Amino acid sequence: MVSRVIPVDPFDLVIFGGTGDLARRKILPGLYRRYLDGQMPGEACIIGVARGDMDTDGYRAFVETSVREFVAKKWCDAKILKAFIERISFVQLDATGDQGWDELKAATKPDRVQAFYFSVGPSLFGPIAERLHTHEIAGPDARIVVEKPFGHDEASARALNETLARHFAEHQIYRIDHYLGKETVQNLMALRFGNMLFEPLWNAQYVDHIQITVAETVGVEGRGSYYDKSGAMRDMVQNHLMQLLCLTAMEPPSKFEPNAVRDEKLKIIRALDQVEPGDMVRGQYRGNDEVASYLEDAETDASMTESFIAMKLHISNWRWNGTPFYLRTGKRLRGRVSEIVVRFKEPPHSIFEEDTGQTANELSIRLQPNEGMDLKVTIKEPGPGGMRLIDVPLDMTFADALGEEAAEAPDAYERLIMDVIRGNQTLFMRGDEVEAAWAWTDPIIAGWEKRADKPKLYDAFSTGPEEALMLLHKDGRRWREIR
Ligand code: NAD
Repeated sequence: MVSRVIPVDPFDLVIFGGTGDLARRKILPGLYRRYLDGQMPGEACIIGVARGDMDTDGYRAFVETSVREFVAKKWCDAKILKAFIERISFVQLDATGDQGWDELKAATKPDRVQAFYFSVGPSLFGPIAERLHTHEIAGPDARIVVEKPFGHDEASARALNETLARHFAEHQIYRIDHYLGKETVQNLMALRFGNMLFEPLWNAQYVDHIQITVAETVGVEGRGSYYDKSGAMRDMVQNHLMQLLCLTAMEPPSKFEPNAVRDEKLKIIRALDQVEPGDMVRGQYRGNDEVASYLEDAETDASMTESFIAMKLHISNWRWNGTPFYLRTGKRLRGRVSEIVVRFKEPPHSIFEEDTGQTANELSIRLQPNEGMDLKVTIKEPGPGGMRLIDVPLDMTFADALGEEAAEAPDAYERLIMDVIRGNQTLFMRGDEVEAAWAWTDPIIAGWEKRADKPKLYDAFSTGPEEALMLLHKDGRRWREIR
């Protein structure tokens, strides 16, 4: 495990929804890893909150099981795990009622860093914020961490921002998008702004186009009825892909500091053109002998919700005028991959013969699997046979380049939780950013609803509907393969 860490200040972390799926799979195992790594101080307290019948002993057993299930066996040291578990307690309460809050108040101390993680359904975000305030639990320096989805459209996001703002200042609100906690996403900023090599070329003059893909092999399965109310646009594009787009396209901020970065991201969202219907393809997966179709998963025959979307975007500013951004995301696709691909233009004039095989440079930034980057460069094919050119990757898989330590880098959630404790909002979305992203999204959704556009069907474990391939083919381009 990585050990060059600076411990954070002692803190109380209250996890609303402490028995939920997210807490079990990500938050609690992540906290254990931070403890093991020496980043979480011995005095830190973790307080699980849920409405189900449970006590501290029962919750400690739940936490131990979660850690053993989701942390690699080699890191599950019995002595350390026991010490970690002793930092944990449980308070039972229903967030919509007024019972139990006094117990919670007694369990946290407002004179140390207090973080309240809202790992519950969005209808509870407002009631919890309100009760933390009215029961005088949150001290002046308390932070709240708000999970996705943050609103369903611009109006609901604005209403939620207003509710939270009645009880907490903006610098206390951490709207989480775990994509921003990924090592490679931060590396994108290091790559762009820590090197002289790329930034001079990072514009419409040299970049032909950019592709952002987030492909999943899973279907909507057990979450079908929830997902059917949102679809790929609301579930993935408005938040995760938008954040990746912003970090790829934004101007250099003057400092790596929360508001400087978020100001630049906001400018990108506001510079996005509306998407023409012909520049967008929505899809729904078919079933086969092994897996159910989207409609079966969603438990409806008539759903028009998309499990796949591909779109071509334009950013109306000087840097990107004429360089399209192609976004695509979907479920039940051929592979599980998240990547940003920057395709550079071909050299303006080739000195080689036409059939030498020269192509363009391509930089790909992989968020998963195997976080890393590679740059495709053209070289001469070794050996005799004249001047034949081939593309070779300059591959920088972090695990290969930096060894074990990189492979064991903290998961996005644990990194982001430590940022909350440190009071660093750089990798969290500001309220106006979220509203602007919805303001761009809403008319697109309203457009297809008005036109009653039906999603195109695609085969399970394919690359999506044919029409998504055509979106690039008609521009003389092609998607990078989903493997
Ligand atoms: P879940 O349904 O598994 O768990 C919900 C938790 O909230 C449980 O601990 C439950 O006891 C508690 N709860 C429900 N109603 C309550 C009430 N009235 N008072 C007090 N506690 C109550 O949900 P989840 O999958 O853990 O998701 C939690 C949040 O995180 C949601 O907003 C979800 O959208 C978001 N999220 C989840 C994942 C994931 O992988 N599970 C990923 C990204 C975002």
